[in-house]
Amino acid sequence: MSEVEFESSAGSSSRNGAEFEVKHMIEDGLLSGSDHRNITCAPDGAPLYAVPEATEAEIARAVGAAGAAFPAWAATSNRFRAAILRDAAQWLLDREDQIALHLVRETGRVLSQARGEVRGAARILGDYAAVDIDRDSMVMRSSSETVWGLQFYEPRGVAALITAWNVPLQLAAHKVGAALMAGCTAVLKPSPLAARTPRALALALRAAGLPPGVLSILYGGAPTALALASHPKVNVVSFTGGQLAGEEIARVTSSPPRKLILELGGKSANIVFDDAPVEGLVDGLISGFTRNQGAVCTAGSRIIVHQSRYDEVLEAMTKRMDSLTVGDPFCDVADLGALRSREVGTEMDRVLAAANGAGGNKVIGGQAVEVPGRSGTFRRPALVAARSWPVTGLWREELFLPVAVMVPFDDEDEAISAANDTDHGLAAGIWTTDLSRAERVWSAVDVGTIYLNSYHRADSVPLASGGRRVSGYGAEGGGAGVLEFLTTKSVHARRTSRVT
Ligand code: NAD
Repeated sequence: MSEVEFESSAGSSSRNGAEFEVKHMIEDGLLSGSDHRNITCAPDGAPLYAVPEATEAEIARAVGAAGAAFPAWAATSNRFRAAILRDAAQWLLDREDQIALHLVRETGRVLSQARGEVRGAARILGDYAAVDIDRDSMVMRSSSETVWGLQFYEPRGVAALITAWNVPLQLAAHKVGAALMAGCTAVLKPSPLAARTPRALALALRAAGLPPGVLSILYGGAPTALALASHPKVNVVSFTGGQLAGEEIARVTSSPPRKLILELGGKSANIVFDDAPVEGLVDGLISGFTRNQGAVCTAGSRIIVHQSRYDEVLEAMTKRMDSLTVGDPFCDVADLGALRSREVGTEMDRVLAAANGAGGNKVIGGQAVEVPGRSGTFRRPALVAARSWPVTGLWREELFLPVAVMVPFDDEDEAISAANDTDHGLAAGIWTTDLSRAERVWSAVDVGTIYLNSYHRADSVPLASGGRRVSGYGAEGGGAGVLEFLTTKSVHARRTSRVT
């Protein structure tokens, strides 16, 4: 399938020298918008497309369309909505290669991971389609002889969905899938850095029969996000992004108050006990912080290793890191692709220069890499080997870079303290063959997701994911994700006749 077909209804044109002009998608129409800015391609640094900043009138139009479409969409059956999500998932799978190429341009990640993201997005839609909670789902209680209690779920209304750049299709699928399955209508505002691939989701849903107005897409940065989230006709906001932006969103959605789901950053730990299995360990630790060049909210960027295994794990990781290929992300042999921009590379150099030698730390890797034919920014992954914990701000702050810090520990309590020594609370990995210990540790580590003897291997199980503390609140995924977009209505009905 050609690129033109992928964007057939969007059309393709040039603006500001960029190869493609991203247009707002409101109801069934496309709107050029105004105040465009150029976004560059991650692997090449060249202009990729021009993205508009939505005006107040455009936001009002998209929210108005979602409001108008809401009663009819909310009245559809679960079966109807699920069929649309499933067909949309198939549409994406049928275009996996083409969408993956766009994902590489937008994120710099390697093609195999980009393909995996398309499949992941399809799986997410399928998982939501399997959730059977809607306004007809009812809980009935008759705890008193005189009153019946009926509790229904109702969709909350118009949802504003705001997403980050790093896994743009999956983030969109998570929010749009949950909102639509719950019977909400939605306005999606993707990150301008990855604006094109979320359109694939809208096109997929449209091809699957989604009625006009149920989903619109608006483009822009912080001003559009804040104006959309605070629009008086928006009933629920789901936001994925950094902590600072999340705090801004929380501020504007507090008055008048509305339901808010915040999926923010992380600083996750991988704890390696003395009895950790050898199989899969080094690969799990490395992919935990290098996947997507480290731009993953749950990146396992703090590695806490029992002192009896520290030297062995460090040596094996160093060897394995040396064997990784940093290269052209369009080519299937590379393990790591490009950083999102030159500025991200400069930040990585700064972080590693500050870490090297501080407190006896040793930096392994992190060198700049020239990739023939590509003018983007490439770096080898880096491991900061520290002999003691705590270590500088590196330990507590999210970097969103292919950089991890590794420290030794003596006993279980110290490992738990080290893992909890951050304000973030997204995920943690535990590597041990002692199940009692695993249970003690997963209970004590204050995060929303635990991986046991693996990292990032959650593909086949549709469980909720969500953060704690500064990583946010609320859930995405499966039934818990759909429930966020539903609200309860309880009916206390006086019995007019006794049932015996
Ligand atoms: P970001 O906060 O810069 O942007 C996220 C979204 O918010 C974008 O749509 C952006 O246009 C908008 N935005 C930017 N500044 C804003 C502001 N001041 N007010 C309101 N909206 C604003 O984040 P990013 O660089 O796109 O993504 C990286 C962050 O997202 C990391 O912290 C990462 O951990 C987090 N993230 C979290 C999850 C999760 O599930 N918890 C998943 C992916 C990414």
